[in-house]
Amino acid sequence: MSSKDKLPLAIGRLKKIIIDQGFCTLCGACEAACPVHAIKIADGKPECIYDCANYLDHCSICYDVCPHTEALLIETPNLGCYRKVLLAQAVDRAAKVGSGGRVVTSLLTHALEKDIVDSAVFSGANAAGPIELKPLVSSVPDDLLSAVEIHFFPSAVAKAFSSAVLEHRKQRIAFVGVPCHVLALKKLEAWQHKLAENLKIIIGLFCLWAFSSSKLLQYLSRNYNIQPSEIQRISLAGEYLIHTRKGTTRIPLQKIKPNVLNRCRTCMDFSAELADISVGGAHPLKDWSLVIIRTKRGEGFFNDALKHKVIRTKDIDEAPEVFARISEMATNKKDSALKEVKKRKRLNEPIPPATESFVEGHTA
Ligand SMILES: Cc1cc2nc3c(=O)[nH]c(=O)nc-3n(C[C@H](O)[C@H](O)[C@H](O)COP(=O)(O)OP(=O)(O)OC[C@H]3O[C@@H](n4cnc5c(N)ncnc54)[C@H](O)[C@@H]3O)c2cc1C
Ligand code: SF4
Ligand code: SF4
Ligand code: SF4
Repeated sequence: MSSKDKLPLAIGRLKKIIIDQGFCTLCGACEAACPVHAIKIADGKPECIYDCANYLDHCSICYDVCPHTEALLIETPNLGCYRKVLLAQAVDRAAKVGSGGRVVTSLLTHALEKDIVDSAVFSGANAAGPIELKPLVSSVPDDLLSAVEIHFFPSAVAKAFSSAVLEHRKQRIAFVGVPCHVLALKKLEAWQHKLAENLKIIIGLFCLWAFSSSKLLQYLSRNYNIQPSEIQRISLAGEYLIHTRKGTTRIPLQKIKPNVLNRCRTCMDFSAELADISVGGAHPLKDWSLVIIRTKRGEGFFNDALKHKVIRTKDIDEAPEVFARISEMATNKKDSALKEVKKRKRLNEPIPPATESFVEGHTA
């Protein structure tokens, strides 16, 4: 940062290296972590709303917790470290809503009903439809049942986590998010932020990428004559399915890829490698999810749901093709990110520090 820059402390660095380069995925972790509430997400990006240097010296927290600044781990295997991989599906009320294995919903409703957690932070569609996402805090299992859909857009769940603690006074929170959300929460834990004391469990969702809503809407309108108001749902089954009242339009991954968020092009984490439990689709098996149990607290959480028969499981060896496909997707995501990094280096274009530190570790 030059001496002429107005914003001192870490916020100046966050703005210059992440926000101004288009790497922000709007998770809200910087807003959540700021001790003097100097950051607000407004008009689609985090803004510093006053000069925090009037109140603090040497603060680095907003930069440190951003999932796209320097990584916590340098190198991991393609699916991260884990204790167990299996297939699972809901057999409780969650089995009757939505599609997929609905394992996340089932685990969370069970944990709320048994008072293992006092609340869940998750995401649901808002009234404007499936493109606009609303991060939610709730202690009511029925709220989870109405949010089973997957939305391929950013959600400010890290910010919702802070409102669970500070506004709703929750102390045993289950958190659900994509890998970059998980990383933001793990950074809060690693930096011993006060908010993290209230985190009970992190469930990570597999994520190939998230879309820029404005880009995707323009693309669908221009290429498929699908208008925003017509979109009922977007799903993923080997390719993207855009569901409207008129029918379903299928779009292959590579065709739709130009509409993803800039940051997602260099993101290396497919399976939420730092979560306690990671969950993803088990394509081509319908109504099953692939579950990766990574930590001891994740194992205890999952086993309790299993013991109470709200989920059923199947050995992954019964469907080796599912595991092979997920491993391949994770490897492809890392390879594709590395290719993008090489291209950006050649063109002298910016690279998010999270990927840069991984690449340095990778080639060291
Ligand atoms: C941006 C994104 C990209 C994805 N890409 C892939 C992929 O490439 N391959 C794959 O196998 N699966 C992908 N998924 C799907 C994800 O892996 C599924 O959520 C997972 O299969 C869980 O299934 P389930 O039936 O157990 O979940 P459910 O019981 O249906 O629960 C889903 C949970 O996801 C939460 N959620 C929905 N949208 C978001 C969001 N945008 N941000 C944070 N939380 C959200 C909901 O609150 C809900 O709690 C993606 C999901 C997202 C959000
Ligand atoms: S966390 Fe807040 S106080 Fe600290 S540098 Fe960032 S904006 Fe300033
Ligand atoms: S912490 Fe989240 S909201 Fe803040 S700059 Fe980073 S990605 Fe964006
Ligand atoms: S691809 Fe990576 S950066 Fe993009 S939304 Fe998914 S986890 Fe976040």
